Amino acid sequence: MSRPVFRFAPSPNGRLHLGHAYSALLNERMARETGGRFLLRIEDIDRPRCTDALTEAMLADLAWLGLAWEEPVLRQSEHLTDYHDAQQRLRDMDLTYPCFCSRRDIALATAATRERDPEGQPLYPGTCRHLSAEERARRLAQGEPHAWRLAMDKAVASIGAPLFFTEEGSGVPAREPAHAEAWGDVVLVRKDIGTSYHIAVVIDDARQGVTQVVRGRDLFHATSIHLVLQHLLGLPTPLYVHHALIDDAEGRKLSKSLGSKSLADLRDEGVSPQDVRQALGF
Ligand code: GLU
Repeated sequence: MSRPVFRFAPSPNGRLHLGHAYSALLNERMARETGGRFLLRIEDIDRPRCTDALTEAMLADLAWLGLAWEEPVLRQSEHLTDYHDAQQRLRDMDLTYPCFCSRRDIALATAATRERDPEGQPLYPGTCRHLSAEERARRLAQGEPHAWRLAMDKAVASIGAPLFFTEEGSGVPAREPAHAEAWGDVVLVRKDIGTSYHIAVVIDDARQGVTQVVRGRDLFHATSIHLVLQHLLGLPTPLYVHHALIDDAEGRKLSKSLGSKSLADLRDEGVSPQDVRQALGF
């Protein structure tokens, strides 16, 4: 039987905190206990917020914690063409459309609506979905800045069957239905970086052969989007474990001395990796 594959996939847009440490340690422990592999992926598509210096600091923090991962480490910034290819495929399937709206346009258009996505943000009202083919072509030709959105209901309809994933966050496997429509027309290609977390995560979970995605509960609802993309792009769906979040408050509860500081701050104050592991239950 092939070995389960786990991954920890931090975004190096700041220093690592206790919440990251918990997720990384949980992935590593599950890999160890199941005879699986533990991979690392640096989700650094958001340049310049994610810098190489922050990546190096992150790797140093993880090594300090005593974590060992398989080499090579995947860095998303080195794979942008793969994300572009996937985006182009969805475009060729006529499931995406360019969106020229500014943040302000969206705020104005949604001011009167109560509709919210699963994260509580106003649902995009589909303004640019209704542009004529001529207007779209003209604005693209003029080089007007734009994002690309997934036409969600069309995408879901093209799959033609309800989607489910296995969630093991509570300890027992549960069959969860995907509710991707609740997200509306999500952005798949951001105006500023030319791709998005949703595209990159499904491409790379497949590329790395990940069988178990273990990550924070905050990403539970986004899994519905990932399922749709996996189906459209012919990628496998892993098992999911969405674990409770160790937020600042819990961090403080765990140990007053650990607080909400970064791992680097804690290390500088003389906290040992064993102290961190113990406080997090490892
Ligand atoms: N890079 C994401 C983060 O740091 C995690 C993505 C994932 O685990 O799917 O929040």
